[in-house]
Amino acid sequence: MGQYTTAITVLGATGSIGLNTLDVIRRHPEEFSVFALTAHRQIDKLAQLCQQFMPQYAVVADEIAARQLQQQLQHLQVTRTQVLFGQEALCEVSQASEVDGVMVAIVGAAALLPALSAAKAGKTIYLANKETLVMAGALFMQTIQQSGARLLPVDSEHNAIFQTLPENYNGQLNEAGVASLILTASGGPFLHTPVADFAAITPEQAIKHPNWHMGQKISVDSASMMNKGLELIEAHWLFNAPANQLEVIIHPQSIIHSMVRYIDGSVLAQLGEADMRIPIAYCMGLRHRMHSGAEPLDFTANPQLTFLPPDFERFPCLKLAYDVLHSDNNAASCILNAANEVAVAAFLNHQLRFTDLSVLVDFCLQKLSQQQAASIDELMQLDARVRTIAQEWINKQVN
Ligand code: NDP
Repeated sequence: MGQYTTAITVLGATGSIGLNTLDVIRRHPEEFSVFALTAHRQIDKLAQLCQQFMPQYAVVADEIAARQLQQQLQHLQVTRTQVLFGQEALCEVSQASEVDGVMVAIVGAAALLPALSAAKAGKTIYLANKETLVMAGALFMQTIQQSGARLLPVDSEHNAIFQTLPENYNGQLNEAGVASLILTASGGPFLHTPVADFAAITPEQAIKHPNWHMGQKISVDSASMMNKGLELIEAHWLFNAPANQLEVIIHPQSIIHSMVRYIDGSVLAQLGEADMRIPIAYCMGLRHRMHSGAEPLDFTANPQLTFLPPDFERFPCLKLAYDVLHSDNNAASCILNAANEVAVAAFLNHQLRFTDLSVLVDFCLQKLSQQQAASIDELMQLDARVRTIAQEWINKQVN
């Protein structure tokens, strides 16, 4: 009888998290098999991954991309992989009965529906994408609870908190003796840049993160510290933590990945190299330690660990996210997320200045401040509306 392996779907396989996930899988062939791989535009890369991992399905954005991939797979003599396309196919490979675990590593709101499909189907979900919880935290967590799906946080800060909370943590900070959760932030590439120079920051400068190699969107979010703001909202939903029990501290070395402050004065931290394979392996091992490929932490190479309070004037996006968290309005975090996605795309496209990122997000939050959205349809409609309003604002700036 063959040994049972955990069948994995990797949503966003061609991205930074997707490739790190596949690297961990490659190290443990006896534990994992790949059921499906998905990508959006990078067809060549996906074809190569199919050749290496032989998934049953590969999913791309549309029919044209599917035809291109099909041709490449024929050329590579990969006959096992069936090519699918579109949003529905992403949902299908996330909920298929053959799948045990789904790595959600698509960037942005595009991950929401496939992540919800995996949640509804009761899968083990390794959640890297943070926009899912920011956009629809209440609904996603409710779906997880109803279906009995298992949710494991891949984002390094949340994974660090997950590692340092008691293993039987039941969503009640007070019962666990927790005073607060402390998210560490590197402060990104512009921690010491004069604020007067911020308007001239280019996309090329913004995507050069000092400690992590990541996709473009999250790199820009890290530079504006919107990333930490999204993470605050993510932590709120993952750990049932109210805004007043969530702290942010800047720690430029990115050695401590986050901490839990207990009421007795103890603080527990998780440390390691800045390597996403560590949290990925911890999730995929279902909390059992396994080799991730990460280098051991060399303390003598990092003799100084330093800390600074966050500066809201320098990083107004972080302040906006805190305000949204305090407002406790599902619609507001959906607006924040959609406006930020449009703003970052326009900045990467040289249509907006770095300083416009927070201005545009704030504009959308103000304009739609009376909005409510509870169901998935309402959230999707609101997301689309924000994108239209944000795009109109950008068009006015450009013309
Ligand atoms: P990348 O940009 O490197 O990769 C994104 C992946 O999503 C790619 O496979 C891309 O396909 C795919 N994709 C992009 N747009 C769409 C779409 N509209 N529909 C379907 N698939 C799409 O991102 P990262 O790996 O850096 O980040 C992924 C997620 O994980 C983000 O939400 C990020 O915030 C989160 N995260 C990332 C960390 C990191 O270290 N990188 C750390 C913690 C969280 P293609 O390549 O073909 O375009």
